[in-house]
Amino acid sequence: MVRINSTSGHEAAIRQHLLGELRRLGCRPSVDKKGNIHAVLTGALAHGPTILFNAHMDTVVPGENVRPKVLSDRIVSDGTTILGADDKAGLAGILEMLALLQEKNVLFHKIKIILTVEEEIGLRGAKALLFPAVRADYCFVLDSDGAVGSIVNQSPAQEVLTFKVRGKSAHAGLNPEDGVNAIKIAGLAISQIPSGRLDGETTANVGSVRGGTASNIVPDETIVVTEARSRSEKKLQKQVRGMLHAFRSAAKKLGGSVEIERRREYEAIKQPKNSAIVRVTKIAARRLGLPHTVASSGGGSDASIIFGYGVPTVGLGIGMENVHSKQEYITLRNLTVLPQYLLALLEAAHDYERRRRSK
Ligand SMILES: [Zn+2]
Repeated sequence: MVRINSTSGHEAAIRQHLLGELRRLGCRPSVDKKGNIHAVLTGALAHGPTILFNAHMDTVVPGENVRPKVLSDRIVSDGTTILGADDKAGLAGILEMLALLQEKNVLFHKIKIILTVEEEIGLRGAKALLFPAVRADYCFVLDSDGAVGSIVNQSPAQEVLTFKVRGKSAHAGLNPEDGVNAIKIAGLAISQIPSGRLDGETTANVGSVRGGTASNIVPDETIVVTEARSRSEKKLQKQVRGMLHAFRSAAKKLGGSVEIERRREYEAIKQPKNSAIVRVTKIAARRLGLPHTVASSGGGSDASIIFGYGVPTVGLGIGMENVHSKQEYITLRNLTVLPQYLLALLEAAHDYERRRRSK
């Protein structure tokens, strides 16, 4: 699959491939308006949990014409592109799990599969999902680094703030006193904003500054794009308030104005360690003798969107490493153990629900 070009927004070829594979495995997949693939499998059990498996179809750049090399213990690219284990290892894990389900005649109640587009450019595929489609008792998102058996149970909420700073243009040599320099306002505001890693669960960044046209014109507009993330909503709000204040007061001080666009990108995930889904991941890891580690992530993923719908969700380590770089790789061991782990999750979830019902 890594040989099939599928950078974000160009998923048609990988989608065709996946639809064919899913049909071959006995599914009747459908494609929604955004281009995401959906499949629902109904098993032989009348009762049991609905389990959703999710991965994304797109890759980052440079991700075209990937030439994978299979070494003795791992798969790498030829060094000119990414490998695309992010997230094709996730796709492969799901397909192989479906094959194992058939081979081993595994009993289950209901499995849902959602394969999204455009995850890497702002979770756009996931954001187009509607609630009935994502409704599930357990959701496993196959899109984290770390060995199979590790999970991500916490990730931050993110807000993106765009500041359109307005000043007043004037000739820089003839009448500078008539101008208000929008770049200076932006600079003053930026200097007041704490950024980088602010504490164990909060980060902020000034990501881009655009403004000005020539040395002899006092610039009348500067656009600054920033973001803040935190696993604590309170800390996120505090940081956002500080950023808003910095721009408003800088504009006021230097005689300009600021227009603010505020966008919530996704919500935080907090899946308690004693929740059913985390316990199920632990039971499954133990059955296969895999180390079970629970970690928090600094980034958003499709999991952030699905969790936002109230679906119990965790991210699964799928063994991909150095993602988003030309040094990306995955070990053969992780690639082969992943489908077995997914199957173990399915069985552990059914056992867990059965015990809960009989209590
Ligand atoms: Zn990914």
